[in-house]
Amino acid sequence: MSSIFSKILNGDIPSYTIAEDDRYFAFLDINPLAKGHTLVIPKKEVDYIFDVEDELLADMMVFSKKIARAIEKVVSCKRIGVAVLGLEVPHAHIHLIPINSEADINFSKPKLKLSREEFEELAKKIRKELK
Ligand code: 5GP
Repeated sequence: MSSIFSKILNGDIPSYTIAEDDRYFAFLDINPLAKGHTLVIPKKEVDYIFDVEDELLADMMVFSKKIARAIEKVVSCKRIGVAVLGLEVPHAHIHLIPINSEADINFSKPKLKLSREEFEELAKKIRKELK
């Protein structure tokens, strides 16, 4: 079993890394709803978020909080919205999405098309805020 996100973790597929520690990895969503849209995953591959063991699941939100604080400093928004769908990739992940209104978190909306330079710049700025 190797999800596309495990391939990213293994370095087989590139990503715009935001942060990692021994248990979690955060990277920019490649089809973002907003600039700064970030995914947080546990390194341990589990499909459904509510199958993630209690402590790992609870600490995933604390890890996400640090990332959200950093995104807020880079992308102007009212809040960082939090969403969990998991309909596309069978590796538990939390979406962190800068929002100004509830319409900003509609996954049926066309996604932003950002250049490699824009992704890199965003990731760099968010990483800097995490230091
Ligand atoms: P979900 O499983 O929550 O419904 O959606 C999966 C999310 O992962 C989508 O927002 C999609 O854009 C993102 N995604 C899918 N494949 C990749 C990938 O290879 N790299 C990155 N960075 N994001 C991906």
